[in-house]
Amino acid sequence: MSERVASSAKRQIIHVDMDAFFAAIEEQRHPEYKGKPLIIGGSGDPSKRGVVSTASYAARKYGIKSGMPLRTAYKRCPQAVFLPVDFKKYCEVSAQFMIILRDFTSLIESWGLDEAFLDITAASRKAVKIAWDLKQRIRAEMGLTASVGVGPNKLLAKIASDLNKPNGLMVIEETEVEKVLAPLPVSKLLWVGKKTTARLREMGINTIGDLLKVPLDTLKARFGKAYGQMLYSFARGMDESPVVTYHEPKSFGRETTFQVDTCDLNLVKRVLSGFVKYLVKELREGGYRGKTVTVKIRYSNFSTHTRAHSLPESTDSPQIIYDEVLALLPKFDLTRKIRLVGLRVSGLEKKAR
Ligand SMILES: [Mg+2]
Repeated sequence: MSERVASSAKRQIIHVDMDAFFAAIEEQRHPEYKGKPLIIGGSGDPSKRGVVSTASYAARKYGIKSGMPLRTAYKRCPQAVFLPVDFKKYCEVSAQFMIILRDFTSLIESWGLDEAFLDITAASRKAVKIAWDLKQRIRAEMGLTASVGVGPNKLLAKIASDLNKPNGLMVIEETEVEKVLAPLPVSKLLWVGKKTTARLREMGINTIGDLLKVPLDTLKARFGKAYGQMLYSFARGMDESPVVTYHEPKSFGRETTFQVDTCDLNLVKRVLSGFVKYLVKELREGGYRGKTVTVKIRYSNFSTHTRAHSLPESTDSPQIIYDEVLALLPKFDLTRKIRLVGLRVSGLEKKAR
C-alpha cells in the first residue's frame, strides 16, 4: 500500500442525506398530508406523463420509487396524494441546509439539493459528535430529519447513511468494513448502477461479499482497467476520492416528454427553440461558451437517437446554437412519432472576462 493510501485512510468523512426531502417539505407546509402516501412529481397529475421525484415513506411501502412513471405510481397507490414539483421552494430549503453544513466545515461536496459529503478530518471533535450536532441543528432549524453516515471515506460514509434511514446515524469503522459490507447487494456501492448490477449478476455476483472473491484481473478484463480497479477497491471499502467542493459542469442540457407523442415538426422546433433560450441563459450566468450541440429524440417505441455537431469555435449565441439545431433535425427520421426531445450544449469553455 502506498503512503498516500496510508495517510488518506485517516480521513473522517460525513455523508448527510435529507429524508424524502421534497415530500418532507410538502408535509411541513401541508400538515394534513402527514403520514399519508405522498408523491411528488411532474405537474402532480398522475394521468399525465411525468416521473416520481420523491415519494414519502408511507408511499414507499407501496413499492413507489423515484424515477417511476407517475401513472405506474397511481396504479400501485391510487389513494396517494400527488403534488407537483415546486423546485423554487425546494431550492430555498436546500440553501438553508447548506448554510447549516457550512457551520461545520467549508469542505463540502453537495450532491443535488439534499445530499452532501463533509470532510471533517481537521476537526478536533469526534466525528460522531459532529454528526449528532448536525442532525440536531437540521431538526431544530429546519424541522426536518436527515440520515447521517460517518466513515473513513466517501464510499463508506454514503453506505452508512443509507443503512439507517430515515433519521439515522451510523458509523462504519475501518475494522468492521468487511463484516458490514459483505452481506449488502453490490448496488449499494457508489457508481454501481442497474447495468453493472445486471452484468455482475450474470457472473454470479450479487453481494459485495461475492465481489470480494473476484480477482482484480477478472474485473479489469470484464469492466475495463479503471472501473475494474474501482470495483475491486470498493468491495474492500477503499475509496481515495477527495471531497470536491465545486464541480465544473461538463454540459448544460434540457429535455421534455410530450404529453402526447407527436409528428408536429413545428411543435418540436418550438420546444427546441425554448431550450436554446434557457440554455443560453444558463451558459451566460455561469460564464461559459459551448462547442458541441446535441439533439436527442426518443420515438414512441422508446428508441432514442442523438445527433451532434461541433462548432469551430465555442459560442453562447442563441442564433448560432439554434442554427445548429435546425441543421441537425433533418438527420432524424421526422416521419415517426416523437415522445421526447432534448438539447445539450457541451465542450464548455470558461469565457475570458
Ligand atoms: Mg435524500
